[in-house]
Amino acid sequence: MANIDNYNFAGKKAIVRVDFNVPLDENGHVTDDTRIRGALPTLKKILADGGSLILMSHMGKPKGKVNPKLSLSQIREDVAKALGTEVKFAEDCAKAQEAAAALMPGEVLLLENLRFYPEEEGKPALDKKDPAYDEAKKALKESQKEFAKTLASYADVYVNDAFGTAHRKHASTAVIADYFKPEDKMLGYLMEKEVKAVDNILSDIKRPFTAIMGGSKVSTKIGIIENLMDKVDNLILCGGMTYTFAKALGGKVGLSICEDDKLDLALDIIKKAKEKGVNLVLGVDCVAADAFSNDANTMICPSNDIPDGWEGLDAGPKTRELFREAILPAKTILWNGPAGVFEFDNFTAGSRAIADAVVEATENGAFSLVGGGDSVACVNKFGLADKVSYVSTGGGALLEAIEGKILPGIAAIKG
Ligand code: AMP
Repeated sequence: MANIDNYNFAGKKAIVRVDFNVPLDENGHVTDDTRIRGALPTLKKILADGGSLILMSHMGKPKGKVNPKLSLSQIREDVAKALGTEVKFAEDCAKAQEAAAALMPGEVLLLENLRFYPEEEGKPALDKKDPAYDEAKKALKESQKEFAKTLASYADVYVNDAFGTAHRKHASTAVIADYFKPEDKMLGYLMEKEVKAVDNILSDIKRPFTAIMGGSKVSTKIGIIENLMDKVDNLILCGGMTYTFAKALGGKVGLSICEDDKLDLALDIIKKAKEKGVNLVLGVDCVAADAFSNDANTMICPSNDIPDGWEGLDAGPKTRELFREAILPAKTILWNGPAGVFEFDNFTAGSRAIADAVVEATENGAFSLVGGGDSVACVNKFGLADKVSYVSTGGGALLEAIEGKILPGIAAIKG
């Protein structure tokens, strides 16, 4: 596999799959340019070598149709500013041959939103139950190859730096790689960093290893919990899942979020943790509220004895202490999902306790990876993002990687 550091892009046209799916306000202005900045090391290396850039990305979910509100032309100036050079724009990503051919070394061309074409995702705009769905999907898979081939024809070399979509087998994230020789396709710097971070917690583990899984439901995290069970020393399960466990063990959870059809699963997780010698940390007390609201009345009560009409919205003080004890000695830490409804300022204490302990352990030499949507929002809310070892840019992609799945975007390049 080629390596971006060693590759000389001089005189080459590089097509780079970036993740420029940035949030826009109602006037089409970028409200957070983290993703654009995230791609800069790769883009600057290519330009500095004397290569030219063809940038491709999706934005939002146009479902295979042109939608001006999701046009990447809206971010052209932001990309130009970040790169410090002019950016040309191709209004039709599948008809950019001439614009690509005209690029001189150091020049940049941004293609229009790939998902304006259904071929990008290869998913027909039909209901899955529609009898015509399978046939339509088959046909689309064929035209997806053509679409990917067209994109590939613009360039000499392919770089994938979009970790956020690496778990999708789309034209620009995976299929396109088939049209480049192994020595002319590679991961970008951001992708390399993400892959290395995942490797630190799945293979190159320094012990003890503490994983913190929070969020609302067990059902969405079960794949990861099962994969981690063979690897971790301490497993903290917190957030809304707490109450499924409490109920499964015979407790009273009031109105707390609880998956009644997952009680057996919860008991099975407890059993497996025992068998594998994993220290499972579950909440013992909680901050209960009399309404799902920041201004609700609150009280501290045992997580397994919540009065009728009340619901657990955050971890209680004893539980926060248990979190600290399991996190502080760790040398490897993974955190996914908040310990409470952190969006409400009055219910952030549990997540805050985790964040503080993760930061302290990191200062003491632990490798800490925070990832998956809401936990990133959490460390950002607390202003601690630069005090952990790595904050992943990939939500679904990170979770699938931790589940142990091979990501198509990476497999397409690594083979
Ligand atoms: P997830 O997308 O599964 O990671 O869940 C994140 C969401 O879980 C956040 O929006 C939190 O507000 C929510 N959450 C965390 N703890 C609780 C709880 N005790 N009750 C209800 N929702 C919760």
